[in-house]
Amino acid sequence: MIDKKTRQKLLRKLPSVNDVLRMAKVQEQIITSGSVELKLVINQVLTMVREQILAGERETVQSEELLALILDRLASREQYSLRRVVNGTGVVLHTNLGRAVLSREIQEHVNQVMCAYSNLEYSLAEKQRGLRYDHVRQLLRTLTGAEDAIVVNNNAAAVMLVLDSLVQNREVIISRGELVEIGGSFRIPEIITKGGGKLREVGTTNKTHLADYQAAMSEETGAILKVHTSNYRIVGFTERPSIEDLYQLANQAEVPLINDLGSGLLIDLSKYGLPREPLIQGSVKNGDIVTFSGDKLLGGPQVGVIAGKRSLIEQIKKNQLLRALRVDKVTLAALEATLKLYLNPATVTKKVPTLRMITTDPKELTQRAQRLASQLGNLPGLAIDLLPGTSQIGGGAFPDYRIPTTLVAVKPKKGGPYSSTQLEEKLRMGAVPIICRLEHDELQIDVRTLQRGDDDLIVKRLEQLLSLG
Ligand SMILES: *Cc1c(COP(=O)(O)O)cnc(C)c1O
Repeated sequence: MIDKKTRQKLLRKLPSVNDVLRMAKVQEQIITSGSVELKLVINQVLTMVREQILAGERETVQSEELLALILDRLASREQYSLRRVVNGTGVVLHTNLGRAVLSREIQEHVNQVMCAYSNLEYSLAEKQRGLRYDHVRQLLRTLTGAEDAIVVNNNAAAVMLVLDSLVQNREVIISRGELVEIGGSFRIPEIITKGGGKLREVGTTNKTHLADYQAAMSEETGAILKVHTSNYRIVGFTERPSIEDLYQLANQAEVPLINDLGSGLLIDLSKYGLPREPLIQGSVKNGDIVTFSGDKLLGGPQVGVIAGKRSLIEQIKKNQLLRALRVDKVTLAALEATLKLYLNPATVTKKVPTLRMITTDPKELTQRAQRLASQLGNLPGLAIDLLPGTSQIGGGAFPDYRIPTTLVAVKPKKGGPYSSTQLEEKLRMGAVPIICRLEHDELQIDVRTLQRGDDDLIVKRLEQLLSLG
């Protein structure tokens, strides 16, 4: 414990704000940061140090250290809060890390629309007001086979808008096996009630038969809702009616079959070894309305697509809520450009980053891991290893499926400046944060989710940290 006398002495050594302002390094900073901000930061640092002295947590006060603290804090104030990070976790659609990464191919186009005027709601041919949804309507129709389509902010909004537009005050029939919660407290039963519908559950968690739906149909029925349980799987003694049978039943009763697909998949990934998932096209054929996310397997910006029968989409378009859920021009530009990549099936898995990462050949991943490992192996102070591991698709898609990958394991050698835990934190807190797994007291980097240039960033950052420490 530091005695009272020393503490008093340290407090007296603490410079005033004006003393600090007169220091040469700070003089330079005044020009770049402005004196108001600088004074604020100096004050914050001095207050923090004073508190540390009073709490007996500090044995010295040195002006170089104070300066370093001030300059550090200034630098971090200049940083944006929302910024790019390096995803070394191997989770392709990492919801906390922004889900889908857009293709660099479309960057230029999105930039142009973002920083210029555009024909967002202007029909150039007709020289009059146009509809923002028309920029993606034809593409969505071509790709999904739907008669019509619109987009809103996200899939949660899409489901809500559809229910609010089509089933007001009537019953929505849904299997008890599909009453799911999708991250961030989006719960299907609540959404149905919020959308003005009445929940009519049928069947059981594991088994729901066509007869269960049949028995629940009445004058009160407003819609049959099918929810793709994308983020969990019931295995074993299970049953669901086929989508064809369900659609026939809905047709007979003249109520819409609404299908919330969650992750919108337009191409069959089973030839890459993934489990078979329903495709959007098939669901459009066997349903009246389908909804899906833009930033899950589709690999585009955050939107919710509503595709289906023209008469129903017209009804949805008339809903006042649509205005509150509408997407902006940047999103539409990114969506149109992403959808265009799907027009060429031969190249789409190479050009849409989400699909590219999911379908990368394991041999290529091993080679990339070896390359990164050999670069890192040159750094003194690190023990580098390669180990087999698995990546996750994430975003609630393919919940129980893991794709084989090769991990680069990084372990600081004994006697070095940082432990594995500290190194993980330093990487995470850098100017370009590097996020990786920390397991068995070593850092694990999955090369699957590294983007172009990320390898160099990792090597440079680790080099810098080891030389600083
Ligand atoms: C992800 C998901 C949603 C929510 O979609 P967002 O685009 O995240 O709003 C809704 N339903 C299902 C089945 C989902 O998987």
